Amino acid sequence: MRRVAVFGGTFDPVHLGHLVPTVGAAETFGFSQVVFIPAFDPPHKQGAVLAPFSHRFAMLALATQPYDRFFVSDLEMGRPGPTYTVDTLREFTRRCPESEVYFLLGSDSFSQIETWHRWQELVDLAHLVVLHRATVWGDKLLELVPARLRERLTPVRLFEPVPDPPPGRKLVYLLEHEPFPVSASLIRERLQAGQTISELVPPEVHRWIVKYGLYHQVSHGC
Ligand code: ATP
Repeated sequence: MRRVAVFGGTFDPVHLGHLVPTVGAAETFGFSQVVFIPAFDPPHKQGAVLAPFSHRFAMLALATQPYDRFFVSDLEMGRPGPTYTVDTLREFTRRCPESEVYFLLGSDSFSQIETWHRWQELVDLAHLVVLHRATVWGDKLLELVPARLRERLTPVRLFEPVPDPPPGRKLVYLLEHEPFPVSASLIRERLQAGQTISELVPPEVHRWIVKYGLYHQVSHGC
């Protein structure tokens, strides 16, 4: 079966912390496709002011364009919110019955998996590939893993081939790689403070942010 990855997130905006580990994961697992699915109405960010979906989607399209196997999907667009990952994954797996689906997420998100809507159902829909975020990893992460998932944990090293999982079993892969310490919050904060973000996002995304004045503080002159 071909292996396909799904990467869900707010992507407000997409940054190198999303892309760099995903390039490594794609190589390690041999994904035939990596599908980025921006959240339409993310349940974990209710009440937060987000850039419009059209901008978040456009920036993802620009960021993924250089990579042959990376795609952006509007699967969540227009779904009455909040848009839950479990529903997205169910729909995705229904549309791709011939693929083994792997869901990518950062270790910070994984450490809070029990707060996700119908998480027990979610972890039986796809394998999880947990990317290393320095804030939660190692012993700290292990303490937070729900008991039900402990026996599924499978450490994998970057660029070492990953054997097929046992039939019918969904695993949780912990991908060992250098953490890339960037977050979308950091980018928004830096822009608000008038600092550069050119090392943190692809140049096309940087240009889009500048062109549309996203995340900048409105200047009233002086
Ligand atoms: P924010 O700072 O606004 O919370 P974020 O940078 O965490 O945003 P999201 O779009 O909310 O980005 O995250 C989507 C997914 O990407 C999540 O599973 C998150 O853990 C993961 N992720 C984000 N940044 C990184 C990073 N630097 N390394 C690995 N995974 C990351």
